[in-house]
Amino acid sequence: MLTLRGSGARRGNSLSNLALVKDGAVLVRDGMIAAVGTQAQVEALPEARAGEKLDLGGRVALPGFVDSHTHLVHAASRAEEYESKIAGASYEEIARKGGGILNSVKQLRAATAKELKKRALAALQQFAAYGTTTIEAKSGYGLELASELKILRLHKELANEQPLEIVSTFLGAHVVPEEYRKNADGRKRYIKLLEENLLPEIGEGRLAEFCDVFCDRGAFSVEESKQVLQAGRQWGLAPRMHAEQLSRTGATRLAILLRAASCDHLEHVNQGDIRALGKSETVATLLPGCDFHLGLKEYAPARKLIEAGAVVALATDYNPGTSPTLSMPMILSLACTQLRMTPAEAITAATINAAYALRREKRMGSLEVGKQADIAVFEVADYREIPYYFGVNYCWMTMKRGRVIYAAQESTI
Ligand SMILES: [Zn+2]
Repeated sequence: MLTLRGSGARRGNSLSNLALVKDGAVLVRDGMIAAVGTQAQVEALPEARAGEKLDLGGRVALPGFVDSHTHLVHAASRAEEYESKIAGASYEEIARKGGGILNSVKQLRAATAKELKKRALAALQQFAAYGTTTIEAKSGYGLELASELKILRLHKELANEQPLEIVSTFLGAHVVPEEYRKNADGRKRYIKLLEENLLPEIGEGRLAEFCDVFCDRGAFSVEESKQVLQAGRQWGLAPRMHAEQLSRTGATRLAILLRAASCDHLEHVNQGDIRALGKSETVATLLPGCDFHLGLKEYAPARKLIEAGAVVALATDYNPGTSPTLSMPMILSLACTQLRMTPAEAITAATINAAYALRREKRMGSLEVGKQADIAVFEVADYREIPYYFGVNYCWMTMKRGRVIYAAQESTI
C-alpha cells in the first residue's frame, strides 16, 4: 500500500517517498480513513473487528489519482484533424479549414446539454475505471455567455449525479472566438464580455472555483491574462494558467506573481522560470499526453524542475484536440519514458501534488487518517508495474469516499 503520508507539497527528493506499507490496510468509517497501518495493526482495532472486510488479495493500493487538468465537457472528437496533422498539415492550415479549438467551439454551441452530459458521463466512468477519483474540469469551448454557462452548469450537475469529484474551472479566455476577430477592437470587447457579463454570473452562481487563461501565441497575452485573472479573483475565483506550451510568453512569472494554484504545460520554460517555480507555491503541472498525441519531440523539463525544487504534478489534459486520453496510468508511462521521472515520482505527482494543485491536499492525495477514502487498486505485484505496462488497464478497483465505484469484470467484489 502506497500511503504517500507526510506533510507539505513534495519537492526534490521527497517526490520519491511513497511511504510504502507492506501488507497494509485502512479502516474506513463514513467514507473517511479512520486508521492506516499494517494489516495486523488495523485488524487489532475493535472497530475493525466489527467492520466489513474487503480483501484486496495482495494487490497494490494507492490514493485515487487526482487529475488536475481536463477539458471534460466537449461535443465530439477531432479525429479528422488528427489524420490531417499526421499527413503534415500545420496548425494554421487546420485553423483555416475551421479546425482547432474553434472547431470544438462550433460543435459545443450546437450541442444540447443532454448530449454533452451523456458524453461526459461516459468519460467519467472511464476516468474511474483507470483509478481516478477526482478531476478538474474546464469550460472554454463555449466562449459566449449561454454556452459557457451551459458547460459550467453541467459541471455542477455531474458533480451531484455521479461519484467522481469535479472541480470546476472557468476558461472563458481560451481563445478569442471567431465573431470577435473581425474588428480591431474585438479582443478588447471579448475581454470586456468576460469581465462584465460572464464573471459576475459565474461568481454569483458559484459555478467555478478557479479561473484559467490560455496565455500563449494565438491565444491571450500576459497583460490580457493578468486582467482576466484579476477580474476572476474579484469574483472569488482563484487563478491557474496554461503557460509556455507553444512558446515562452512569461506566463509562468505571471502565475507566480498572482500566486496561482498551478501553471500547466511548461514545455518552453527557461532557466529563470524553473528557478522561480522552485521557490514558489504554484504547482508546475506537466501534461505529457499532449506532446505525445501531437507527435512533438520537446517535452517539459521535468528533471530540471524537480531538481530546482518545484512542486511537480501530472495530469491528462483530457481534451479532443491535443490529448484525448483519460488514462492516468498512460500519463505515468509517458512521465517515466519521456520526462525521465521515476515511477515513484510520477505517482506522487499524480496524487498528493495534484491535490495541492486543486487546493484539496487536506482531503485527498494520500491515505492518511482524516482524509477521504479515495483509493485505487491495481492488479500488479509491484507499484512500478503501473507505468511499466503502458496502454493496458490494470486498475482492479476504484473507491470514492469508501464506496466501490469501479470493479474489474473478473473481480469478485
Ligand atoms: Zn488544457
